[in-house]
Amino acid sequence: MSSDPSESIESVLNEERVFDPSPDVADEARISSLSQYKMMVDQAREDPEKFWGEAARKELHWFEPFNQVLDWSNPPFAKWFSGGKTNISFNCLDRQIQNGNGDKEAIIWEGEPGEIRRFTYKQLHQEVCRAANALKDLGLGKGDLVALYMPMVPEAAIAMLACARIGAPHSVVFGGFSSEALRDRLIDGEAKAVITADGGYRKDKVIELKSAVDLALANNACPSVKSVLVVQRTNESIDMQTGRDHWWHDLVPSQSDFCSAEHMDSEDRLFVLYTSGSTGKPKGVVHTTAGYNLWAHLTFQWIFDIRDDDIYWCTADVGWITGHSYIVYGPLSNGATSVMYEGVPRPSNPGAFWEVIEKHKVSIFYTAPTAIRAFMKNGRSLPDKYNMNSLRLLGTVGEPINPEAWMWYREVIGGNRCPVIDTWWQTETGGVMISPLPGATPTKPGSATFPLPGIEADVVNANGETVPTGEGGYLVIRKPWPGMMRTVHGNEKRFRESYWEYLRPTGGNLIYFAGDGARRDSDGYFWVMGRVDDVINVSGHRLGTMEIESALVSHPAVSEAAVVGRPDDLKGESVVAFVTLEGTSSASDHLINDLRNHVGNEIGAIAKPDEIRFSDALPKTRSGKIMRRILRSLAAGNDISGDTSTLEDRSVLDKLRN
Ligand code: ATP
Ligand code: MG
Repeated sequence: MSSDPSESIESVLNEERVFDPSPDVADEARISSLSQYKMMVDQAREDPEKFWGEAARKELHWFEPFNQVLDWSNPPFAKWFSGGKTNISFNCLDRQIQNGNGDKEAIIWEGEPGEIRRFTYKQLHQEVCRAANALKDLGLGKGDLVALYMPMVPEAAIAMLACARIGAPHSVVFGGFSSEALRDRLIDGEAKAVITADGGYRKDKVIELKSAVDLALANNACPSVKSVLVVQRTNESIDMQTGRDHWWHDLVPSQSDFCSAEHMDSEDRLFVLYTSGSTGKPKGVVHTTAGYNLWAHLTFQWIFDIRDDDIYWCTADVGWITGHSYIVYGPLSNGATSVMYEGVPRPSNPGAFWEVIEKHKVSIFYTAPTAIRAFMKNGRSLPDKYNMNSLRLLGTVGEPINPEAWMWYREVIGGNRCPVIDTWWQTETGGVMISPLPGATPTKPGSATFPLPGIEADVVNANGETVPTGEGGYLVIRKPWPGMMRTVHGNEKRFRESYWEYLRPTGGNLIYFAGDGARRDSDGYFWVMGRVDDVINVSGHRLGTMEIESALVSHPAVSEAAVVGRPDDLKGESVVAFVTLEGTSSASDHLINDLRNHVGNEIGAIAKPDEIRFSDALPKTRSGKIMRRILRSLAAGNDISGDTSTLEDRSVLDKLRN
């Protein structure tokens, strides 16, 4: 994208529905009105150090207090809570037991084949201590990076907490990645050990993990890796290399169930995690101990207004930041009960999600737009078979949610009674940045609403100037916050250039920008318009992808849509739409006309797709995001270039080429 400041993104979406928080939700909520929210915003703005300092002292346990809240003397390299010593594993476990939550369930786990395991805080503490002692026996300690390549089993969370306990940063690599993708990440992070399993279950198949680890390590490709710890999950026969490979069940259960938590410096590395790779080569995002802990903790408390009796379920995988912050650290740090589910909806059990909600009486459900659109495609008859009266809150994360998908989620899954919490954030931000608060914020379908207190979000042009209301621009954060990434692993230059020097504000203040476009409406609501790399330039009008896609999705025949620009001699770019239809609809020339007219009526002739292609599926990252850069190459008739290692299903490409 060119950085001419006059090039704002035009908004064409017109969405005016508003849903106020219901009085009974507001009555019981911690933050129970918009004025209370605004008061917090003002406090944080007037004296950020006081605001964050008080929160850190109140919400976290400290072995030693910090003596400085924020050191921003060398931007963009921030130091939060300098001098303090803490441990996130202690905050998630020991402190909960001290607070009287020892016998409360911390994790309820269900495997894809249906087995259930439950861990109270006391039990989880013991398991984590044993695993931590086993890691020590393998010679691992403070500062040694440990890679996890795991199915969604409790041992994945246990291993993360065990690493954190001994001060070994973890690097979780999603279990669906190939051995090459794993190898790249092991080399990049100089991992000392890998924790894995023989395999895992996914969509009724066994995914072999250990053999992929063997392949990644073959020919001494990762010389830093000295040991591999293997959880037995599927009982497949696997190779175990003497000296290097150890079974979890041989090493862990016999350990002492006590292991004191290392006193970690606030700025000690907690983990490295690679981004989803929607726009290019994944970046190894570094998060540190105290700031991340505070941010995962506070945001979880705020956005879900967590209560003691909630059963909370986030459907992400621990291989993504959402799994880190909102399956493991955020919920446990708050003493909540977190459901962990190995499965996904699959041919043998398409209603799996609804079944889990019914069975475990889930009260807060947090999932991704891609899942919601997949359910819309098959209609409401399936979810209607389940009793989901236990639900009180619905969350969404990962992509812009189209207003019609939002409405469907609210009506069909939430029975029109549960607030929909659309949370905008990134791997880099550590936790949620822009989101409604259930007791305070009137919601609008498709808008993530307002920044959380302390988050100075803005929509600007390339000079860093705030754009007028209603105009689209770059979504930026003007002030540092505790959960911000600290650097790109091993590449400070990339950190500086991709996030802090992309925009060149006059006056020289650094502002954080990580790729998304947005606009603000006259009520101050933020509307994420998609990634600025994906903006389409039609006859001088710059259009975000989200709005055209939302217009398509609002047609009853469409369940999912992705639009991209194709170079065009006359118009600059023409609009090409890839469309997935609802179960009962079928492709025809008539429908193409109908869809084009529908977009014309909804948002204007300028956005009418020049070409519409139907497809059963769209190319997505393994975290479920549409990869528009691949569609852009396809639309232009080019070869697919760039990193495709994070693509979910290669066969989708072959289908789309035809
Ligand atoms: P890469 O940075 O490697 O291209 P990625 O950006 O997909 O990958 P993540 O950090 O997993 O990696 O995703 C963050 C991005 O997801 C955001 O920048 C935004 O584009 C999108 N996103 C997440 N939540 C929302 C939301 N609620 N509304 C709109 N967009 C969202
Ligand atoms: Mg990104």
